Amino acid sequence: MGALVGGLAIGAVAVRMRAQAPAPQPTTSPQTLWTVIAADGRRPLASTPVNGREMVSADELARVFGVELREDPLTKGLAVTIQGKTIVISPTTGLASVGGRVVTLSTPPVRGDRGWLLPMDVVDRVLALVYQPRLEVRPATHLVLIGDVRVPRVQVRLENQPRIARVHFDVTPGATPHAIVSEPGRLIVRFEATALDLELAPAGSPDLVLALRGLPNAVAIDEGPRYGTYRVIEGPEAPTRRLTVELLAADTPGLTAPGQPAPTTPVPAPGQPQPAPSLPGAPGQPPPPTPSLEGPSIQTVVIDPGHGGEIDVEGVRGPGAKGPGGSLEKHLTLTIARLLKSSLEARLGVRALLTREDDRTVYLDERAAFANNNKADLFISLHLNASVSPKPTGAEVFFLSLDGYSPEARRVAQMEGAVVQTATGGDRQIEMMLWEMAQLQHLEQSAIVAGLVEQTLRDKVKMSPRAIQQAPFRVLVGANMPAVLVELGFISNPDEEKLLGSHAYQARLVDALVDAVGRYRAQLEARPKAAPAAPAAAPRTP
Ligand SMILES: [Zn+2]
Repeated sequence: MGALVGGLAIGAVAVRMRAQAPAPQPTTSPQTLWTVIAADGRRPLASTPVNGREMVSADELARVFGVELREDPLTKGLAVTIQGKTIVISPTTGLASVGGRVVTLSTPPVRGDRGWLLPMDVVDRVLALVYQPRLEVRPATHLVLIGDVRVPRVQVRLENQPRIARVHFDVTPGATPHAIVSEPGRLIVRFEATALDLELAPAGSPDLVLALRGLPNAVAIDEGPRYGTYRVIEGPEAPTRRLTVELLAADTPGLTAPGQPAPTTPVPAPGQPQPAPSLPGAPGQPPPPTPSLEGPSIQTVVIDPGHGGEIDVEGVRGPGAKGPGGSLEKHLTLTIARLLKSSLEARLGVRALLTREDDRTVYLDERAAFANNNKADLFISLHLNASVSPKPTGAEVFFLSLDGYSPEARRVAQMEGAVVQTATGGDRQIEMMLWEMAQLQHLEQSAIVAGLVEQTLRDKVKMSPRAIQQAPFRVLVGANMPAVLVELGFISNPDEEKLLGSHAYQARLVDALVDAVGRYRAQLEARPKAAPAAPAAAPRTP
């Protein structure tokens, strides 16, 4: 959202009427500031309490809404002209006639020493009936909205636990796009909105969250001294979405050690229902290229080196599989991912990003979210397979499935992190959270990519008998772009373990993957120019 510029139309000037007769002297006390928000800007609107009633001066109504007010000698009423329509309000009863309809104000207007004062509900009960574009009054948060402005209601609440603090955001409407940015010392939860209708419980603690603060379109979470990292949990979208930012203590077992900075991998916003070009990416990273129908079809590839760190999270082993010779999957996937990044950039000129740059814990959902936040056009997760038997060898390519997968595919998915659990005793009865399924609308393209990867790998390395499969991988399900998971080979086979550790074999794997991306790009660019693929409607959640 760009800066708000300009102001509301300032129309007619109020005609101030001087008191002709002694009038009760209004008692004055501090004003209440309302905010009037329109597409082109915002204005404060001050109300004044008079004898316990919230009143607004004719001057304020003139300044903000262009309302003209004069005394009508014929009716002894107040003639209020709004955008050319005149409404007469009785100063004795507070009744107003609006286009033949009579409405009642909460209290009659009063004449102060600086002109007429009208009850604040004149905005809702009178102006809103005739004003164009429409007016919406939100008394609880002292907002008046004019026209088509996006002012989501955001209620924020902090929940503290010993090693974890949860900041809950209840966002209405739930489809409001958001982004989360990590800045030094704080997390910024930004909403794509003209303004926020924010209800922020003042809260903080000395440990993880020092304070919550409202910013124009965002909420700042000030990190406490024990803060280590964070993740985001999203509820279903409509009509009110619960978005929870979890701040984890640095001394949580397996997370970033105390004193070290939080992981550089941001936990970004998931795929947005609408393009959100104004939402910034994480600081220190180049902004994602602006999607364009004219530009190359594959601009950004996110490579996900599987596993990482020491601890097991979400049922996935941190180190991943271990070969009989001692090789660890997490190290080999990182090595190959780095080679793939260089090769993609050098050979295809695409931007390639890694979900982790070193040996660290990254949650499965963060990996897909990282790709979404960076507007990746393709997501490739790299893994090495393992079997209890030393015999199986060869590469396998997976794309997402939510049902119909084989027991073998299910075994691999359980090793790499499955999104679904098979209910006890059930066959393919799956427990699925609907909001996790950003990937579903890309399945067709993911299948095409998987097919290309299978072909190019087959040219260069040994394939498993089950070269292409579908499985319910949690790391894929939230990816809002075509996504595949490649098991590059079996680390559990002694010979293949050696091959996978050799630079020559790694180069063959990387060549094959780059070839596949190149072929996929060529396919996309050979298509007739049409509307771009529909953006995801489904966000993800851990
Ligand atoms: Zn793995």
